[in-house]
Amino acid sequence: MAAEIKPGPGLNDRFNTPRKPVLVSKLEGFNDDVNAAVIIPGEDAVITVCDDRTVRIWLKRESGQYWPSVCQYMPSAATALHFCKASRRLFVGQDNGIVSEFLVAEDRNRISHSKDYQAHTGRVTSVLLSEKCQWLLSVGRDKMFKLHCAQSGLCLGSFVSEAWCTAVAIDSLAKMIFVGDYAGHITMLKVDEGVAQSSIGNSGGVVSGVIRYVTNLKGHTGSIRALTWDSNGQFLYSGSFDQQVIAWDIGGQCGTAYEMNGHQNKITAICYAPTRQILVSGGEDSVVVFWDMRTSRVETPQWADSDICQRCDRPFFWNLRAMMDQRQLGLRQHHCRCCGRAVCDRCSAPRHAIPSMGFEFDVRVCEPCYNKLKGEDHPSRAVFMEAKHSIVSMDVDEPQKRLLTVGQDHIVKLWDISAVLQ
Ligand SMILES: [Zn+2]
Ligand SMILES: [Zn+2]
Repeated sequence: MAAEIKPGPGLNDRFNTPRKPVLVSKLEGFNDDVNAAVIIPGEDAVITVCDDRTVRIWLKRESGQYWPSVCQYMPSAATALHFCKASRRLFVGQDNGIVSEFLVAEDRNRISHSKDYQAHTGRVTSVLLSEKCQWLLSVGRDKMFKLHCAQSGLCLGSFVSEAWCTAVAIDSLAKMIFVGDYAGHITMLKVDEGVAQSSIGNSGGVVSGVIRYVTNLKGHTGSIRALTWDSNGQFLYSGSFDQQVIAWDIGGQCGTAYEMNGHQNKITAICYAPTRQILVSGGEDSVVVFWDMRTSRVETPQWADSDICQRCDRPFFWNLRAMMDQRQLGLRQHHCRCCGRAVCDRCSAPRHAIPSMGFEFDVRVCEPCYNKLKGEDHPSRAVFMEAKHSIVSMDVDEPQKRLLTVGQDHIVKLWDISAVLQ
């Protein structure tokens, strides 16, 4: 009997899932980059901000298509937004550094300007309202994080980073703030009300007002593009240009962090569905990954330091002495993703996916690890979707089972993700 030749699992097989999201609507007609968009929770309504200076509210019409009911022109490009449904307050960050606040009418057909926050001197990259604390948080390309009182409009404190600030998240209960920057740092800050101070954090960043420097979360090697806080699980999620999502177990207080690798280009957006515990990441590979966070995960190992291959003992190329003694050429160092051992290319020839460690694709492993892995079952812990546009921003409305993706193609897509949220 002829041996059956089975092709290895290809990368495109990851889209073969019975849990496929369905494209339900497209919002088109933008002439410039759409920077962000949100679904108004529970409604067939979307708010967009665009480089053409517009803030638009889109409502679904009887035809089934979305058309703008509001088109507000700002003094400069509209770059970031936050909408609070309960209070109907809409915050819009701009390229000129100002954050403008509007009140959205109940019928969504009108918005009225209420105040301006002179927050930044450069493009605003993200804005966020903490309803519980009544704080407006914003970050910008002036390398600043700013904290404003969302009632008085007064500035309460700030943090100056060494690079453009790109993302912000808050744990409103513990009053912890996380600021991501272009250099790949995530700075953890604490709000200490009543204690006005000015000090220099270990990162070199400067804090003032009620802001205190706590620590830096080290893990990413590329610009941080998105941060989101899960208040139930006490996890911080970060997405970066280094193609990784990291789940930081802040509540566990043991310094545990899980890496998730499912993208093949920069990650630009993440959002979280807390009930079903699904983290959604999107990137410039035009792929959306839904990560099941209910499953247990294993931390990736630390990479070992060694002058010789920890399998065959042959020297690495910087180990000149051993190279001379053994009359051998130096080898390049690699690491087994499963055990972390420093190994040469020949001793780490096999490849295997390790979904429990967040490696949804085949990665380099050593022979002993490969032999262990191949005998076990490794179900994927993620669902993959082809968004068919390079993603800029995303939002999820879990009760409505809707996902929104904003593309570099100036199109906003709405997806029915019922199948994923099962
Ligand atoms: Zn070796
Ligand atoms: Zn190994």
